[in-house]
Amino acid sequence: MAENSTKGEYIVGVDLGGTKILSGVFKNSMDCIGTAKLSTKSQRGVEEVVERVARCVNDAVDEADLTMKQVAGVGIGAPGAVDFDAGTVIFAPNMEGWKDVPLKKQLEKALGVPVFVENDCNIASLGVYVAELKSKPRSMVGIFVGTGIGGGLVINGELYSGFGHTAGEIGHMVLEISGPKCGCGNKGCFEALASRTAIFQQIKAGVKDGQKTILTEMLGDGLEDLRSGDLRKAIRRGDKFVEGIVEVAAEYIGIATANLVNILNPEVVMLGGGVMEALADEMMSVIVETAKDYAMPGAMRGVEILSSKLGDSAGITGGAVLARRETK
Ligand SMILES: [Zn+2]
Repeated sequence: MAENSTKGEYIVGVDLGGTKILSGVFKNSMDCIGTAKLSTKSQRGVEEVVERVARCVNDAVDEADLTMKQVAGVGIGAPGAVDFDAGTVIFAPNMEGWKDVPLKKQLEKALGVPVFVENDCNIASLGVYVAELKSKPRSMVGIFVGTGIGGGLVINGELYSGFGHTAGEIGHMVLEISGPKCGCGNKGCFEALASRTAIFQQIKAGVKDGQKTILTEMLGDGLEDLRSGDLRKAIRRGDKFVEGIVEVAAEYIGIATANLVNILNPEVVMLGGGVMEALADEMMSVIVETAKDYAMPGAMRGVEILSSKLGDSAGITGGAVLARRETK
């Protein structure tokens, strides 16, 4: 028991997303003993969001029947470019007004414990690395396919965030020079080709052009409430149109994987995020085959391509891992 007895023994991991905030309280052993969830409401401004993050942390601590005095620190993943040392969110594209926000300072004031801020996909990569890979490979690339596509690099067992803390922006590697426009301003980014947003756009455009799909029977012509899980249902009911679009997205994920394996030759490529969670059974074989086709001869030898089972809790787990490491 080297731990200082005056310091709390629990840690809190937070996943701050564009639409929701998740928080989880973890014991030393990384067991989650209480969680909370709040909508982000980023349209109400930065201050309100910071307040909601603090409330979400307090809710999870309360849920675990603890008080903030028993918490040693909080690790939080934010959706954008983060300066880890300063604890600021430099820019978050999906959150209104998030430019140079001193999140660490503001949350430490609100919560009274040390707070550590990282990029959300970096943190999720750390989460799956620690919680899911029991063999602890030296290197792992995390690819998270959801609303956008993010990534994280674990090299020699440590998160690699690069010279200016911007490494791992896997979603913005350009795969098609004259491809669809991306949120970042470029054309043909991986994210613009294979994210949930890209897949949904292709489906909606196809429906507009008169393509037949079970999805319109399930959800109506507007497809307003379309979710990743609906794609799985449609494919399992034999919908060739949806299957074709999902397959092309899987090919792009495979090509991106091949590029990353060529550059980094990691032991493990871990695929996560909402799209993978819903469609792993449909996509994994295409991803693996395509990655093998496109990688340099020999580069894929022994490399494992896996789909994460952590789902939504990758972010809070990674936040807790980070806070645990930083408060030790
Ligand atoms: Zn982009």
